[in-house]
Amino acid sequence: MVDESKCLFCRIARGEIPAKKVYEDADTLAFLDINPRNPGHTLVIPKKHYETLMEMPDGEAGNYFASIKKLASMVMKGVNAQGISVANSNGQAAGQVVAHVHFHVIPRFSTETPPGLESILSSKRLDEKTMDQIAEGITKASGKPTEQPRPEPEPVERPSLESVPKPSSLKQPEGEEHKKKQVKKEFKDFEDEDGISFDF
Ligand code: 5GP
Ligand code: ZN
Repeated sequence: MVDESKCLFCRIARGEIPAKKVYEDADTLAFLDINPRNPGHTLVIPKKHYETLMEMPDGEAGNYFASIKKLASMVMKGVNAQGISVANSNGQAAGQVVAHVHFHVIPRFSTETPPGLESILSSKRLDEKTMDQIAEGITKASGKPTEQPRPEPEPVERPSLESVPKPSSLKQPEGEEHKKKQVKKEFKDFEDEDGISFDF
């Protein structure tokens, strides 16, 4: 547990230690990392002291994340980057060095060989059963029942096609008889105009 009075990022937030600030609002501060992994590497912190993301109340975490998103756009534009990596470590096991929650917003350039940040950990092959057990463990960790699938919507009652009256103009009598009548009528019109008669 780090004392807020001694916490490095709390001290930066209070202005006791200088930093190159790039954004500030009531709850959030963003400043350039002193050891940038790329030019424009920015750290985004909540002004209030929390050691890890998991300690932050949901409402504050929501606003905090909106600021991180804003910073991702600002940094991308500000240094003409082609991509942005966002990284956050929680706990020593994850490599967190400064015990005040912070997100790294790191601009990425098409000129670099582009490893995704997650590629620092090698991938592990796990069998189906182990994956199922892991998924179950994580799902149960919320302490709430898993969200049930939505019930199927009630079928909407539609009138049957037969019961819909057809406008007479749309009535299409079908079959050979109809076609024959049509042809007869056309020849009749021709006959009337030119005085020629046809037999059917
Ligand atoms: P972590 O390893 O905890 O995820 O990241 C801590 C980051 O804080 C590192 O990238 C490190 O370069 C940065 N850092 C450490 N001390 C200072 C400081 O005094 N000022 C600034 N601006 N960044 C710092
Ligand atoms: Zn702090």
